[in-house]
Amino acid sequence: MDVQDLALFVDLAKRLLVEEKDQPVAIPIQAGELSNAIDITLSEEGLSQQAFKAVLQDLIKHTPKTSSKRFFNQLFGGRRPESIVADLLGVLLNNSMYTYKVAGPMVGVEKEVIRQVCNIIDYPTTSDGAFASGGSMTNLMAMLIARDRKAPHVRYDGLSSRMTAYSSEVSHYSIEKNMAFIGIGRSQLRLIKTDEKGRMLAADLNNKIEEDRTKGFIPFFVNTTAGTTVLGAFDPIKSITEVCKKHNVFLHVDGAYCGGVIFSEKYKHLVDGLRETDSFSFNAHKMLNTTLTCSILVTREKIDLYNSFAIEADYLYQTDADEFNLGKTSLQCGRRNDAFKFWALWKAVGRNGLARMVENEFHLADVARSYVSEHPDYTLHNQDQSLSVCFNYKNIDPEILCKNLYEKGSLMVGHGSFRNQKFVRLVTINSSNKAEDIIAFFKELERFVKEEM
Ligand SMILES: *Cc1c(COP(=O)(O)O)cnc(C)c1O
Repeated sequence: MDVQDLALFVDLAKRLLVEEKDQPVAIPIQAGELSNAIDITLSEEGLSQQAFKAVLQDLIKHTPKTSSKRFFNQLFGGRRPESIVADLLGVLLNNSMYTYKVAGPMVGVEKEVIRQVCNIIDYPTTSDGAFASGGSMTNLMAMLIARDRKAPHVRYDGLSSRMTAYSSEVSHYSIEKNMAFIGIGRSQLRLIKTDEKGRMLAADLNNKIEEDRTKGFIPFFVNTTAGTTVLGAFDPIKSITEVCKKHNVFLHVDGAYCGGVIFSEKYKHLVDGLRETDSFSFNAHKMLNTTLTCSILVTREKIDLYNSFAIEADYLYQTDADEFNLGKTSLQCGRRNDAFKFWALWKAVGRNGLARMVENEFHLADVARSYVSEHPDYTLHNQDQSLSVCFNYKNIDPEILCKNLYEKGSLMVGHGSFRNQKFVRLVTINSSNKAEDIIAFFKELERFVKEEM
């Protein structure tokens, strides 16, 4: 990498920023038409500098802009400049996080984020944590830890018993997927009923655990969700903790979407009871607008991480204590430096700055809910404190509406369903948006329906 490469990058980045403003929703290319529309094919000969730049520009132009003011499609969106700067530096530095020898002070950066998160949620001094490549993977780590805690021999001998796990019927699909990965099997996951707001019912959990125990199954893991994928609902951690304690089952909180509430004095009550749980994960790349991916797991007992993930390797671990060689508590071997970009944001804005981001996202959701409630053409489907505002407009099929908005480059927003109701799901997770950006979303939707549908 020399100064010329840097100039090329800066030039392309500038164009990207202009493109994002001028064409906030890139007109999509039909997936089957991709290789006709853009020069993607790889060939024997390389390209001239100019042609190389042109191809990159073309790709940038047609790639969806997840940080634009018209993107409300996913549980992430927007990006904080502090995290981008650190992320780009992390790419240039190109460290791997497994040893202190290779990552140096970046190990301290990662450990500091984990320590602070443990303090904030009031975990004991025996707690620790790890980063993984996303919420699905931090959930996987929690499930492996729970399995190994219940049946320590499994990591040597493989599985022989009939273990069972529990998660609500509206929880993230990674729980079911991970059941296969950890060797226990998808059909050993019990889906727990939810109330009308999509929150897990502790009584149903208790019944299902008791039923399984009577049949000779061994319950080992309960997953609760802080911010469910569709409705953004928060499971009642406190009452679920009681059930888990009674039956001696490991309790994890999947806060991938909304675990970021821990940073706000105003909203942390949504995860009341967190301090009594066994593990907790959240994605800084969702509520905290850090660039993808940045997922953090904290565990009540540090020893659990070592039990499940540490293994000796003298070709790798050649200096320093285990405590500074993060490969000993990690799912991966080589690993990107994801901590740096979140640490940099936190360092720059402080914990209070993180709280303001979270609080603004809830404020934007309130703005959206008020708008929907006050306009007779809309129906609102969830009243609660949630960043997912679920609504219908004029009896238009949400699936057709969202597809049209996307294909014609108007808005990117998705749809969801709960108990046979289909609706549009507006996600107010981009903390750099203002109330007027949310109002502009509705105005654009109304204009589109009137003029283009
Ligand atoms: C997004 C999400 C996940 C998965 O996180 P990835 O980083 O996409 O793997 C898991 N659980 C919940 C509740 C989520 O919202």
